[in-house]
Amino acid sequence: MGCVEFFLGQAMRDPILGYFVRAAKSYRLAEFNRHFSRINNDRVRTYLLRASVQKWSRAHFDGRRYNVMTTNIVESINSVLQFARILPVLHLIDEITNLLVCWFRQRRELAMKSHSTLCADLGEIKLRKTLDAASRMNVVKINEVEYNVLDGDLNGLVHLQNRSCTCRKFDLEQLPCKHAIAVCQHLKLNPYSFASSYYTRATWAAVYAESIYPVPPDGTWVIPENLKKVKILPPLCKVMPGRRKTQRIASKGEESRQKNAQGVV
Ligand SMILES: [Zn+2]
Repeated sequence: MGCVEFFLGQAMRDPILGYFVRAAKSYRLAEFNRHFSRINNDRVRTYLLRASVQKWSRAHFDGRRYNVMTTNIVESINSVLQFARILPVLHLIDEITNLLVCWFRQRRELAMKSHSTLCADLGEIKLRKTLDAASRMNVVKINEVEYNVLDGDLNGLVHLQNRSCTCRKFDLEQLPCKHAIAVCQHLKLNPYSFASSYYTRATWAAVYAESIYPVPPDGTWVIPENLKKVKILPPLCKVMPGRRKTQRIASKGEESRQKNAQGVV
């Protein structure tokens, strides 16, 4: 579980955590600074800065990120295989195969049922929600490619060719923000054509198009002669005394959270 998701559950109980969540989810540096400045607890501020702002803040992250605030995919796989990890290696691999077969089949079926241009749960709903708000904004043409969009708040300067906007949502999500949609409506362009192909239903279906087949019984395997002579030994490793660990080892920065689940630090 990402640190933001952990704090989200508690955000309603402590205003500081609410400010943290809003700072973490801000796209613009100005918004980030506004929310972060409201965290008036020195211990919390020091902890968050020491944890590296780039790791939990959208505004400071160098790459592109949709809405997932954790980068450790291993933890996600680890948690779904928690019980299978005690099995012998061959059974563990069977469990992993079965899990992937199930995930691929479910996603393939969902993609086939969908009729929208973009993935229903991702870009499509987000884009549709923005269409109405964008229709009420004023668009001012600056030059052939740049438009200033007045939204009654911080406004947005859209560069349609570069697919960017000063609100940074268009840049980071690769999905037209409300300002870019307002420009599309102003120019009578299709906003869907400015969404990254990663959001399309076609890409979604293509990603899960392949089927995963079970490993056949070993009696049916066709093994080349040169491989039959190879003797594969387990890796050299030192077996430590005592029971094998079933709990994962916490990542850097997580230690204090596990020790004191009620507090922030
Ligand atoms: Zn924008």
